[in-house]
Amino acid sequence: MKRNDFFNFIKKETEKCVNCGKCKSVCDMYKNLREEEYSPRGLVQLARRLNEIKNTQQSKILEYFYTCFLCGKCSIRCPAEVQILNVIISARALLSEHSKVLTNLNQFKNKNLKIKIKKILSGESFSSLEKLKKLKNYNPRSSSLFFPGCFLSDDYLKFLERSEFNFTLDENIGCCGYLALASGFIDIFENEKKRLEKVIRARRIERIITACPHCFYVLNVWHDYRDREIILLDNTDAEKCPECVLGFNQTDFTCTGFGGLLPLLNPEIFSRLKEQNKFFPKCSLSKKVGE
Ligand code: SF4
Ligand code: SF4
Repeated sequence: MKRNDFFNFIKKETEKCVNCGKCKSVCDMYKNLREEEYSPRGLVQLARRLNEIKNTQQSKILEYFYTCFLCGKCSIRCPAEVQILNVIISARALLSEHSKVLTNLNQFKNKNLKIKIKKILSGESFSSLEKLKKLKNYNPRSSSLFFPGCFLSDDYLKFLERSEFNFTLDENIGCCGYLALASGFIDIFENEKKRLEKVIRARRIERIITACPHCFYVLNVWHDYRDREIILLDNTDAEKCPECVLGFNQTDFTCTGFGGLLPLLNPEIFSRLKEQNKFFPKCSLSKKVGE
């Protein structure tokens, strides 16, 4: 997508907002921070006036957009059907030149995590698929591709093995692009999208299966696979979302959404919430958001 596409999308969506505030009542971030700028309604209003915001203020504004952990509950709640989640991502894309994500990443103490995130952001393919090839329903000739996501957990193997699907794998698919997307790095995201499209076409894949709610959302909403089936495996008995390793490694967050990225996107707010020790958002990244 180009800059103008994001502006047009934001304009079209934010004009639908009737200012009712219903989205605020479901936002865990707002409930904790209690400031309008961090609420979905506040973010919709900021997005609406994005082209009036002076360059010197844009860095601060991006911090507001970065604080949302993209759970998607507000979009579901909105009676005017404003696509709030996608408005927030679009605003991040427009403001990404002010991003401090890479600087924040360099502050991380966990070296392995730092290396892995850099790889994700550079579009490298990195998940080891050997364990998956040992599952009884692995079939290299299947037209159903399993999309492992960035942090392949043993839970995922369990979900896949008990599912009804035979599946194939591909070493080249890498990340769905969610980290780049959440950071507003649209060029990186577009490259990751193209790489996956190439695999899907070359392998004549008819169905994409994932165990990760983030991949499911990104594949459904930001990729173009409307002619293919995308399946989210039943993950209801997962102990925790393996994608949230950033947050889980450092806090007691029970969030199962993009909340895990907060130390990377907005470390200041992350520290504030950590000190309060009462931030327990529940993610709604499920079929409802993607469908
Ligand atoms: S996506 Fe979730 S965290 Fe973000 S504004 Fe909406 S409800 Fe709040
Ligand atoms: S629920 Fe929808 S219409 Fe109401 S304030 Fe939020 S974005 Fe606007």
